[in-house]
Amino acid sequence: MTVKTSIPLVNLQRQAQTYRDAFQASFTALLNKADFIGGASVEQFEKAFAQYCGAQHCVGVGNGTDALYLIFKALGLQPGDEVITCTMSFIATAEIFAPLGVKVVFADIDPLTYTLDAAQVARLITEKTKALLPVHLYGQPADLAALQQLATQHGLFLIEDAAQAHGAEFAGQRIGSWGQAAAFSFYPGKNLGAFGDGGGITTNDAELAHKIRMLANHGRLTKYEHAVEGVNSRLDTVQASILLTKLGHLDAWNARRNEIAAFYNHALSDLPDLKLPQLGANRTHVFHLYVVQTAQRDALLQFLNGQGIQAAIHYPIPLHLQPAFAYLGYQAGAFPHAETLSQQCLSLPICPELTMSEAEEVVRTVKAFFESRP
Ligand SMILES: *Cc1c(COP(=O)(O)O)cnc(C)c1O
Repeated sequence: MTVKTSIPLVNLQRQAQTYRDAFQASFTALLNKADFIGGASVEQFEKAFAQYCGAQHCVGVGNGTDALYLIFKALGLQPGDEVITCTMSFIATAEIFAPLGVKVVFADIDPLTYTLDAAQVARLITEKTKALLPVHLYGQPADLAALQQLATQHGLFLIEDAAQAHGAEFAGQRIGSWGQAAAFSFYPGKNLGAFGDGGGITTNDAELAHKIRMLANHGRLTKYEHAVEGVNSRLDTVQASILLTKLGHLDAWNARRNEIAAFYNHALSDLPDLKLPQLGANRTHVFHLYVVQTAQRDALLQFLNGQGIQAAIHYPIPLHLQPAFAYLGYQAGAFPHAETLSQQCLSLPICPELTMSEAEEVVRTVKAFFESRP
């Protein structure tokens, strides 16, 4: 009888156990203070995260989706304005625009890095275009040099969806400081994750930071004086204290993710029907996800799951083909690289807590699948 292994995509339980004492100390400090909204932990985390990203300001907010929404709201985009973004992403990247009356314009991915194709973006810019929104998908920065140049040339905002790439670098500079602002998510499974929802915005623009902070807190000037209609989207004190504890480990965790990715890259390199992740020029990857491509994706997924290895698909439907965006009128075939990736991508388990023997087990099982095939 064979014993089934059980390897999750991300092992949050193991991380919680490893750092249990530190987390409990954070909770105890918080209980002693009974300080649940705002306060020192939020301020300290914002300061530390801004510094980590090489940005001057960080504003903590309720989640990554709100981070994106608040950036565009604060930039004052008007109904009819257009923002160009990547069709291969999580829906949050694009669902924030309709409430602002802004039209989202999708572009394909570059098939090497799976991030926004800058050459296609250049062709999509019109008089209505106000901003470019690259996504650092799976943990790899988009081509920020090319996009920054386009933004400057056409007078556009450059906003980073950095939800999957905390700590990644382009041309030796951390992401989060390349454009007017960047949106981060601290969803538990992200490279820097809270114990619930959380998000943050980094920027070098003091005025923008102030505006976002006000919008995220009911448009407040003082407790009961409101300059504008805002929303309630603050980073919880409890999440900030957990994030502060975790931030000190982020570089080591990202290094460990790279170690595992390098092992996979080497161990899986001889499989002809498996395309491995590629790194674009001038950047580092933080492997939020380790995504392979194969024409036999669905069968491989089923095989791995059957062997107790949790693989997953990020994402099975590109945004331009989502029912939610049917009103935009895109047809299948519009963005062939993203469509192929969505049909062939498979995320293998990766997280700092994955052991080498678990990684070996993943490799053995992937190889067994291809050996069993004609
Ligand atoms: C997770 C994610 C978001 C949204 O973050 P939440 O904190 O879940 O709201 C936005 N964009 C991308 C690319 C993401 O992966």
